[in-house]
Amino acid sequence: MTDDTAADRLTELAKRRGFFFRSSEAYGGVSGFYVYGPEGATLKENLEDAWRDRFVRREGHMEIEAPNVMPEPVFEASGHLDGFDDMIVECPECGASHRADHIVEDNTDIEEAESIAITDIEEIVAENDVVCPSCGTELAGEPVEDFNLMFETTIGPGSSSPGYLRPETAQGIFVEFPRLKEYARGQLPFGVAQIGAAYRNEISPRKGLVRLREFAQAELEHFVDPETDDPDLESVADVEVTLYSEAQQDDEDGEPVELTVQEAVEAGVVGSDWVAYYLGVAQGWYERIGVDMDRFRFRQHRSGELAHYAADCWDAEADTSAPGADPDWIEITGFAYRGDYDLTKHGEYADDDFTIFKQYDDPITVERATVDPEMSYLGPEFGGDAAAVGEALEDLAERDRTAFDDDTVTVDVDGDEYAVPVEKTGFSIEEVTEAGEHVTPHVVEPSFGVDRLVYTVLAHTLERDDAGEDADEDRTVLTLPPELAPTTVAVFPLMDKDGLGERAGEVAERLRQAGFEVAEDASGSIGRRYRRQDEVGTPYCVTVDYDTLEDGTVTVRDRDTTAQARVPVDDLPGVVADLRAGETTIGDL
Ligand code: AMP
Repeated sequence: MTDDTAADRLTELAKRRGFFFRSSEAYGGVSGFYVYGPEGATLKENLEDAWRDRFVRREGHMEIEAPNVMPEPVFEASGHLDGFDDMIVECPECGASHRADHIVEDNTDIEEAESIAITDIEEIVAENDVVCPSCGTELAGEPVEDFNLMFETTIGPGSSSPGYLRPETAQGIFVEFPRLKEYARGQLPFGVAQIGAAYRNEISPRKGLVRLREFAQAELEHFVDPETDDPDLESVADVEVTLYSEAQQDDEDGEPVELTVQEAVEAGVVGSDWVAYYLGVAQGWYERIGVDMDRFRFRQHRSGELAHYAADCWDAEADTSAPGADPDWIEITGFAYRGDYDLTKHGEYADDDFTIFKQYDDPITVERATVDPEMSYLGPEFGGDAAAVGEALEDLAERDRTAFDDDTVTVDVDGDEYAVPVEKTGFSIEEVTEAGEHVTPHVVEPSFGVDRLVYTVLAHTLERDDAGEDADEDRTVLTLPPELAPTTVAVFPLMDKDGLGERAGEVAERLRQAGFEVAEDASGSIGRRYRRQDEVGTPYCVTVDYDTLEDGTVTVRDRDTTAQARVPVDDLPGVVADLRAGETTIGDL
């Protein structure tokens, strides 16, 4: 099976059965925007709940929900206004716009062209006779330019207050740090998570859910003190991870290696203990949600590829091609050590305190250089600049007390130099007692793309096999983990007569009241009904037949093994709960 047919099959199934489809098709459709249908919306919600369970609840973090629109200064501070760009090249013939790095990757052996400088990309386009993917016109000589990916809007009437749709949910957390730290009682470490929409005006959206203009992120910002806080590495020390480091990528024969988290840290393959910790946690979680770990790796960002804020970054990547086809790796999560970049920036631009006050165990006494300038001297001497000179002296004393060693000290105010006799500055060294200090926390960020996870889980669990029950018909099965399946149990009357339909309705209702997602289906042969549920990943089907009317038992059938067992209706809610939790199997029953 080629990659295309794998993706096509998934897209066809997704549309026919209501997982996802292109939006606004009645108006011709618009690239990069998708709708989750009834099955897909529930699957996505279940996936988000599984994320919440692992990365928020079990880690003891908090979750918030911030607005999608944020004012311009936020993105001046974050660096997105200046640096959140992709490379664009426009076809001189048909006018189509393309991502220059992507067409280079598609036409050469180069991988990750995103890290290459624009001028080099222009040369590569010319040297390799790269043509417009839409019309075939040569693109040599066409300028490659930066294109900012943010969607701009205006807040309120008029144009005086520009705003942007957030390109990552993270900024909604960073900006609220001054308040969030209070909920954490001013103590590091603490983590704040958010699941929500992010918007990027992608130049060329592609492959359904993989490159969207509106997508969902599940992000965790873990604020830590780099001096004193360590992750619980021991809890993930033995977890095996597949790592594709920068060195291995640069080596022609380089291959990903399998290491335990502990080995990866000891060998320095993963530089940050915090990042290593989250790789270990995430590995277990990907397995839990049905990612095929044979088609999975963690890939380190190359230096040129690092985002403007990141010090070290690893991506979780999944191969979503069909088995046997050329691999098609997509980034499903980014793990970044963002250092103190974000909070420092917001501290500079915003009018609030983005630090934590760290109390010392015992107060300490320190020497501090201070000034108390004689304004009766500075005033007549420097006129309107006197106050600024006074402030500059104060700054200088804090920064460099040796500047006051001579008879005169010189300060710079807006490019002009002012010499002041030291005796007029009131310079002195005082002893002060300090109870603590202000520190800017560092940030560790696992950033999950929910839509790409949905896509990966569907691609990795979509199977076609010979069911055995109806040997001449292939069956399409989504082997979704029961926790994610949109429907947990489907209830069928063997036939819709003799009271079987009513009895099946009662059984279904009982399961619903017990909290399960339940489907009912009375049309067509039982085999057909199984197929319909297999295709949407329903793990258990219950059939109500004539024996049910006699002895109160039903048949429960397992999606993956197609094994069946008879179970009293009264036990059914408990049995389904145990099956779903993996505490029993149909075989055990
Ligand atoms: P980034 O901030 O670029 O590292 O993105 C974080 C995560 O968001 C990625 O790992 C992807 O899973 C997801 N993501 C980024 N861009 C898109 C997009 N255009 N469409 C869907 N998911 C995306």
